[in-house]
Amino acid sequence: MSGPVRTDDLGEDPPADHPGVTATEGRRTIVGGMPIVRVLPTKGRRTVGAWCFVDCMGPDDAAEPDPMEVGPHPHIGLSTATWLFSGEAVHGDSLGTEQLLRPGQLNLMTAGRGIAHAELGLGQGTGSRALSGIQLWIAQPESTRHGDRAFAHHGDLPVADLPGAGGTGGAGRATVFVGELLGATSPARRDTPLVGAELAPTEAASIPVDPAFEHAIVPIGARVLVDGAVVEPGWLGHVAPGRHELRVEPDPSGPVRPDARVMLLGGEPFERVAMWWNFVARTQDELTEAWRDWQGHDDDRFPQVPSGLERIDAPTPPWVRG
Ligand code: MN
Repeated sequence: MSGPVRTDDLGEDPPADHPGVTATEGRRTIVGGMPIVRVLPTKGRRTVGAWCFVDCMGPDDAAEPDPMEVGPHPHIGLSTATWLFSGEAVHGDSLGTEQLLRPGQLNLMTAGRGIAHAELGLGQGTGSRALSGIQLWIAQPESTRHGDRAFAHHGDLPVADLPGAGGTGGAGRATVFVGELLGATSPARRDTPLVGAELAPTEAASIPVDPAFEHAIVPIGARVLVDGAVVEPGWLGHVAPGRHELRVEPDPSGPVRPDARVMLLGGEPFERVAMWWNFVARTQDELTEAWRDWQGHDDDRFPQVPSGLERIDAPTPPWVRG
């Protein structure tokens, strides 16, 4: 579920002051045996608020997909937020956590100076039992990124009605898993001003948002219109700060998809981060140090994970000469 970041995933962020919605296509790849689409980072964008990584997983088109298995691997400087649409997954980490995750629940793991974890998908077969979901990383600010590792499971998250475009309710619902939206506030930790919600709009919805935030719209299963601009599944729609309201609408020309979802991610524009493999830092030297500590089995920084899966070795960073 946590895929490594390649150097060529990264690019320069475009200026944040352009109007309207900018749609960027994600990159298809395989992580832990699962087909995924990585919509962040992309060549055009490194962060949206503190959100710095968005992988959309499954469902697998194969009749009998392989179970997702991601063996023990490290993280620094970020929180992982795991959110499922179908199937189940088990998370194990170096705090000794073992936690089952179901759709509508949040697993939030915070690395600080260092953590390691493993993930095992239980979604078997196809249809509603197949594993599908989204894996998100949140870059930690300077105040917490050198601090303690942590894990929290949130099984009960607030749900809000989506207001219709005409000012009435009944345009669907929003499950808020990080931050506040439509008066619903998630109990989950956040280290910077941030929002994360799963929207299920049944018609055009007008959603009040924080004008200090930039936002990403990630459609799951069906295209949506964002302020009238088409955003396809497998793409990320970016909206610059300065907006008080976003209009999100199921594609009126498409078939009705009751299982379609839209992920809304936002936050105050974040400082520039350095990312490589499973690490988020500020400098290349910090990335190199984390790589050495993981490859050197530094059990203080990255304690062992109780998992039967095989530990994942880090590749050599391209800037390190043999
Ligand atoms: Mn991971």
